[in-house]
Amino acid sequence: MNCRTGCPTGGHASWGECARAANISIGAVMTSEFKESYEQTDRELKEYRSVRAEGIQPEGTTMNKIELAKTATKLLGRPYNAEKDPPAKFIRSKQSATFAKTGEI
Ligand SMILES: [Zn+2]
Repeated sequence: MNCRTGCPTGGHASWGECARAANISIGAVMTSEFKESYEQTDRELKEYRSVRAEGIQPEGTTMNKIELAKTATKLLGRPYNAEKDPPAKFIRSKQSATFAKTGEI
């Protein structure tokens, strides 16, 4: 599951959903720090879902990984797939993209 550590109920579909459910009970005591990280996670999850809809498979759900996957996708000319392709951080040029696709430089 994607629940936060210590989620009392479990079974939430995503960290964001879990946080939203917890939010109801946390209410007024929710710290701004938590809110910030929650909002960032929410943004990242939205972005993650949008690239997944385009067939891109990033290495993770952080904005950094998503951006790397988008760059790799552009260079590859097809959706990047972390399960099959080399780490996206290595696909930074047309040459490395060709190598990732064909194994040849
Ligand atoms: Zn949960």
